[in-house]
Amino acid sequence: MTLARPAFPVVLAAPSGAGKTTLARMLVERNEDVVFSISATTRPPRKGERDGRDYHFIDDDTFARMIDRDELAEWAVVHGRRYGTPRREIASALERGRTVVLDIDVQGARQVRRVFAEALLIFVLPPSADELARRLTSRASEDPAERRRRMTNAMREIEAAPEFDFVVLNDDLERAYARVESIVRSEWSRVKRVRDLERFADELVRDLEAIIRQEES
Ligand code: ADP
Ligand code: 5GP
Repeated sequence: MTLARPAFPVVLAAPSGAGKTTLARMLVERNEDVVFSISATTRPPRKGERDGRDYHFIDDDTFARMIDRDELAEWAVVHGRRYGTPRREIASALERGRTVVLDIDVQGARQVRRVFAEALLIFVLPPSADELARRLTSRASEDPAERRRRMTNAMREIEAAPEFDFVVLNDDLERAYARVESIVRSEWSRVKRVRDLERFADELVRDLEAIIRQEES
């Protein structure tokens, strides 16, 4: 007799550079029931990024076709490029009973909330503006103009934090990770998410009745 772990989408959103990709990857690496939703994007790969692992890197026409065919659960223009979550990324994870982590922006998070009422939305905050700027520089993946664009967009994104279910301060990485993991683990035990609770409880009661009957006879 087992209680199946509930499967649902977990959205990690944050201003660029706050550390959501790092935290999302840690969640996937350290929990075998958690998988990463690989987004489609029209932005070019950064050094070290791999097609099909970090993103599905596609051109504008292919992205437009995916929209036409309704293949995206959500999509948005972020920092001037198009990003979207393929429906099959979420569907195939949920079919396999996996928790699926979406590393997406605030516009995408709002759409996911509408499409998947059961989604868990976590907002990651940097400890300070200075630290956010430092992390964006240290990643060294964008030129100065792109970095500036991301900092400007960050101001708007931060204002959306109150719309989320949980907020996590990413000061020390391991501490922040522990916070994220404890939120997800708590949700695995939330009564309304545990689908076969009734069956499990019924079986327990039936087995207990059998033991009582046996002891009485
Ligand atoms: P995002 O996905 O939110 O844009 P990343 O996960 O790419 O952010 O993180 C941005 C940079 O900051 C990366 O170089 C990452 O290694 C670094 N970073 C993330 N979290 C922390 C942390 N808690 N302390 C220091 N550096 C961090
Ligand atoms: P980056 O270019 O740094 O990988 O991502 C830029 C922003 O786009 C980040 O805020 C990231 O979370 C967001 N993003 C990545 N994939 C998706 C997606 O599928 N949908 C949406 N809406 N945003 C995404």
